[in-house]
Amino acid sequence: MTEPLLKVRDLVKHFPIKGGLLGRETGRVHAVDGVSFELQAGETLGVVGESGCGKSTTGRCILRLIEPTSGEVWFEGRNVTQAGKRELRALARDMQIIFQDPYASLDPRMTVGAIVGEALTIHKLTKTPREYQDRVVQLLETVGLSADHLRRFPHEFSGGQRQRIGIARALAVNPKLVVCDEAVSALDVSIQAQVINLLEDLQAQFGLTYIFIAHDLSVVEHISDRVAVMYLGRIVEIAPARALYTQPRHPYTEALLSAVPIPDPEVRRVRIPLQGDVPSPIHPPGGCHFHTRCPIAQHPLCSTVQPLLKPCGDGHQVACHLRS
Ligand code: SF4
Repeated sequence: MTEPLLKVRDLVKHFPIKGGLLGRETGRVHAVDGVSFELQAGETLGVVGESGCGKSTTGRCILRLIEPTSGEVWFEGRNVTQAGKRELRALARDMQIIFQDPYASLDPRMTVGAIVGEALTIHKLTKTPREYQDRVVQLLETVGLSADHLRRFPHEFSGGQRQRIGIARALAVNPKLVVCDEAVSALDVSIQAQVINLLEDLQAQFGLTYIFIAHDLSVVEHISDRVAVMYLGRIVEIAPARALYTQPRHPYTEALLSAVPIPDPEVRRVRIPLQGDVPSPIHPPGGCHFHTRCPIAQHPLCSTVQPLLKPCGDGHQVACHLRS
């Protein structure tokens, strides 16, 4: 096993809640609560969980778009969490993000050429106007667009095309790691498949490493080498994709998987309903965060002691007192 491209160690992000006349801190949103994982170069890690489980915040903390409360992120041996402004700018070339909403993430006043080329200017990656123009056209063609689109504005494109523009913008700096933050969630299913295929082609072409964030297990299945399932700020299970989909160990993963439709009408899956909503991340339940909704919680440890991730097979880890 080679040195991982990315190491995330005990990452925590708590957002303070301010209130009252004096604006004092009255509580904290526990968005990310001790997340650790490693990622090899060229690998795709799918990260799934219900809305509010901390997956997007984790992705943004890794890139320092949000400052983590504590924990460490290491990229190619460089400490991202301790990086100063200059080093962060250099790291921004290696680590890019594609956002969920292609409508909101592109400046409506900029042409597509200017959006895709902006990072080339910021990082001084081209020397002449001709080189700049050629590179922007090349980037557009890489994502299935063309030179004809250079002078158009984002509102002239469909959702899938706008996401392609977002991908071209991310690729402009030749990144090594791309965080795809719900990158296909706002798109129709057929367009989702096209964008996922494009991301897979680009990965093969440029050796990219992805963190692919989605709320739906079915979306990450085909693109992921491994999948991490998050619940209320913690990873509750992480495993090679095949193992996670065929032999899930955590009751939460089992429940999420039971809701994924199977295209084969001969195969029927028993639905495991989850009781209630995800508890508030301001007051997460003690012990195992999942114990208030877990269909098999009966052990006294469930409500009192936080289960830590422990190995349960070939690269498979689960955080549950009753499963191993
Ligand atoms: Fe359920 Fe207990 Fe396992 Fe948590 S530790 S998932 S509550 S059985």
